[in-house]
Amino acid sequence: MAEADVTPPPAKRQAVEGDSSLGHVVASHYNNIEERGRSERSKSRIFYMRNSNNWIKTHLISYCLEQIRDRQVDHYPVSVLDLGCGKGGDLFKWQKGNIRHLVCADIAETSMEQCKERYNKTKSRVRGSLFSAEFIVADCTKKRIRPLLDNPKRQVDLVSCQFAFHYCFESLPQAETMLRNVAENLKRGGYFVATVPSAYEIMSRVKAGDGMKCGNEVYRISFPADRPEKPPLFGDCYNFFLEGVVDCPEFLVHPPTLQKLAKKWGLEMVWCRNFSTVFQDALREQDSQRLLSVMQALEQYPSRDEPATASEGEYSHAEDHLK
Ligand code: SAM
Repeated sequence: MAEADVTPPPAKRQAVEGDSSLGHVVASHYNNIEERGRSERSKSRIFYMRNSNNWIKTHLISYCLEQIRDRQVDHYPVSVLDLGCGKGGDLFKWQKGNIRHLVCADIAETSMEQCKERYNKTKSRVRGSLFSAEFIVADCTKKRIRPLLDNPKRQVDLVSCQFAFHYCFESLPQAETMLRNVAENLKRGGYFVATVPSAYEIMSRVKAGDGMKCGNEVYRISFPADRPEKPPLFGDCYNFFLEGVVDCPEFLVHPPTLQKLAKKWGLEMVWCRNFSTVFQDALREQDSQRLLSVMQALEQYPSRDEPATASEGEYSHAEDHLK
């Protein structure tokens, strides 16, 4: 989670359109995922894992909204930019959070159509008292969102990027553009909250296996055979398969690199945890316990696949790149 402190610097690089990046593969993957109803989802072997992830998002989002509201004297409703919003799985969280305006952005056109549909259905059900929303189809790692806004002067209180930020680590220019999209749309003092797969966790699981892949019955992570011994900070690609949900290329996010790059864009790291820590902490609080139970997210943690240790050694060469 990062807090915006200063005005972002001007972008030094622009991504080149028509290059060989994997955005179209990712977009087509998400566009082709069928929408399943809750009863269908409850039969899935990853039902509890999905609920746990959803609980994490609920927890983080409500925490951020609380922080933002605590600072406001007049408690006016907040506005949000959801980068990589997908089919709108978080719309209910924004509704519950009583926000005023939502900007949804995603690379996948079909997902965005479904998101819009979901929003319109909710809006008709609650007879217009829902937050206003706009929907932008764009590769947020290559395009600036700002000129595409209904009101280009608008800045939001919160930028959320759930399980999507890691796609920008395909290259430095893409990570820069994504962070620019965060920074220039965020009010001074606003929050950026993101969830990404842990690079350290992935690497310790991979190393505990054959060094190239890890997984179990429901998920698989595999690196290409020609992965360099010293992995690149950007473009460190693996294929992620999760039963019935994901099967596409993703990129490791090296946390110190993210922190350093974010700082350049005026975003100060204020909070960074792995999911198991968030769960352990939540289990000590009664309200969170109740929500975990209601969301049927308790069965997942602590994970049976928890690796022995997470190592930073994998990226010991990284500081050289960052200077
Ligand atoms: N945030 C949603 C959620 O938590 O339910 C969706 C998460 S889904 C795992 C990842 C989303 O990131 C997909 O909807 C995908 O289309 C989007 N995405 C991937 N690369 C993107 C990019 N370059 N620009 C915008 N969205 C992107």
